[in-house]
Amino acid sequence: MLTYIKRSWWMALGLIILSFCCSAKGYENFKVAIYAPAQNVQKMSDPNWLEENWEIISKQVKADKIYLETHRDVILVDEETIAKARKFFESKGIEVAGGITYTIMESNRFKTFCYTDPKQRKRAQEVAEYTARLFDEVILDDFFFTNCKCKSCIKAKGNKSWTQFRLDLMKDASENLVVGPAKKVNPKVKMVIKYPNWYEHFQGCGYNLEAEPKIFDGIYTGTETRDPVYTDQHLQQYEGYLIFRYFENIAPGRNGGGWVDTGAIQYMDRYAEQLWLTLFAKAREITLFNFSRMLQPISEELRADWQGQQTSFDFDTMMQPVKQPDGTLVTPTTMARPAGYALEQIDVFLGKLGKPIGVKSYKPYHSTGEDFLHNYLGMCGIAMDLEPEFPADANMIFLAESAKFDKTIVDKIKGQLVAGKTVMITSGLLKALQGIGSTSSLQEGIEDIVEFRCTDKKAVTNEFWRRRAFWGRRGVTYKSSSNIIIPEIKYLTNDSWEEVSCLTSGIGYPILHSADYADSRLYVLTIPDNFGDLYNYPAEVLTEIKKVLMKDLYVRVDGPSQVALFIYDNDTFIVESFLPEIVDVNIVTDKRISKLRDVLSGEELSGKAPPEPPMRARRWQRQENDKLIFDIQIKPHSYRVFKCE
Ligand SMILES: [Zn+2]
Repeated sequence: MLTYIKRSWWMALGLIILSFCCSAKGYENFKVAIYAPAQNVQKMSDPNWLEENWEIISKQVKADKIYLETHRDVILVDEETIAKARKFFESKGIEVAGGITYTIMESNRFKTFCYTDPKQRKRAQEVAEYTARLFDEVILDDFFFTNCKCKSCIKAKGNKSWTQFRLDLMKDASENLVVGPAKKVNPKVKMVIKYPNWYEHFQGCGYNLEAEPKIFDGIYTGTETRDPVYTDQHLQQYEGYLIFRYFENIAPGRNGGGWVDTGAIQYMDRYAEQLWLTLFAKAREITLFNFSRMLQPISEELRADWQGQQTSFDFDTMMQPVKQPDGTLVTPTTMARPAGYALEQIDVFLGKLGKPIGVKSYKPYHSTGEDFLHNYLGMCGIAMDLEPEFPADANMIFLAESAKFDKTIVDKIKGQLVAGKTVMITSGLLKALQGIGSTSSLQEGIEDIVEFRCTDKKAVTNEFWRRRAFWGRRGVTYKSSSNIIIPEIKYLTNDSWEEVSCLTSGIGYPILHSADYADSRLYVLTIPDNFGDLYNYPAEVLTEIKKVLMKDLYVRVDGPSQVALFIYDNDTFIVESFLPEIVDVNIVTDKRISKLRDVLSGEELSGKAPPEPPMRARRWQRQENDKLIFDIQIKPHSYRVFKCE
């Protein structure tokens, strides 16, 4: 008994000390690192420059760690400068790690090293050895890939595809030019590879998600998506969350953190959103790229039109003076402050969230097809969880075209259906799996399950139809706000069935289609030619898709697209809107959940039973008796956090 009391007393004291340390410095739920590229580190040879600028940054955002880069482009920072910078940061209690960028000239279409040129291979190895000698932890920034197509690389490629050649080349470079040599000079060194945001295309430039995470001690995730419209990549906001979860599933427990820069934003809220989404995915550390960008002045031009409504990112609150530990006040001046403000806000509740969960989806290593589609579904409110291995345990699996890279995918789908589990495939995957002849690398075609055809023909539609009576007379139509081009899916009468259709020029085509097989049902979701048109599917159509995909999750959000849902395994969830106006949505939960608590405001919400269908429709319109509905509003570019009670 005495021992027990003693132990708990010591544990309590430990906790007190721990929370005191954390509150005195840094955030409770994550570490913040700042990355200093070689050009910044060079400037640190001037102690005044460093002192002055670090003061500006550290008074606006609480940093725990700094990455000092040794190499980028043709710059190699000298040892003396690194030693000085290191001493400076250590004296401030900041953790120090190293960084390497393997570029020849970043400004020239990201010119990377050539890994078939003996001179450049030697240089790559020297840089790894030099950096590992100086640091016990080294991270490689975005450019450890190759886009070199010089004569030497063309010759070395031989008959391989560029993808295969580069995958092999970079695996070799990882082992024999970077990790191996680094460990030789410093056996303690932790080598981390940071991957950028273009995961769907990595293999083309040799980023090897299958082999490299096993060679390196850790991986790291580029969660920056910038503006979905006004950047060449057109990445959807949801990717900031999804990519972190995907990489966490590739290297469980070894995905060190997320990484966001300040680039290419049209409004300041977008910067905050990228930081939030990274942490909603439960990143342990967030890296702010980079030192000099943290010093960029705050631009009034980034104040969005919807400001002034107490949205999640409130520009005026962000601009309030920041209280320092000594009681003095510092007026925000640079981009370090929006970062600090955004991080302080979510640190308050992040600890209350459990493990992120979502609809299991499978994207084999080095696969591509319907590129980045999962993020568009995420933007439609479907919580996604992307896996590199086939998640056979899942009751519901979503498969996009990229799943065709698994040569046994049809067999795997069959296995799920026979086991009574549900699978939803996209029109893109259907097309890839149909009519498989003996020449294909795939073992079986989808015909072995059901004879669908996704044709090359297109239909244009703005009207959707949900048939409710067997003879098709009764049903509901919904309009989309614009015309949508979809592929025409054909099927054999009475063999499979339209769940949701679109109507066009007097006829119609499937949007959500299903076929029975063994004890279960295979669904096909029609993906518009322009994925962005998923956002134009009427809310009611999105709800029908969610009812199938999210049937095993305890919560869904019914409403327009661009309102995302983040679900955790401890009855907490976040609803975040990326719309520029206030939006009304319904939170639909399992009936066991009687109340919702708004974690930020403390407000308690009561649910109501779903509306009873009108008398004349009762025979065919089922009420969701096992659900409760909560009406909520979300402000522009804002999130709300809920706890189920
Ligand atoms: Zn080359």
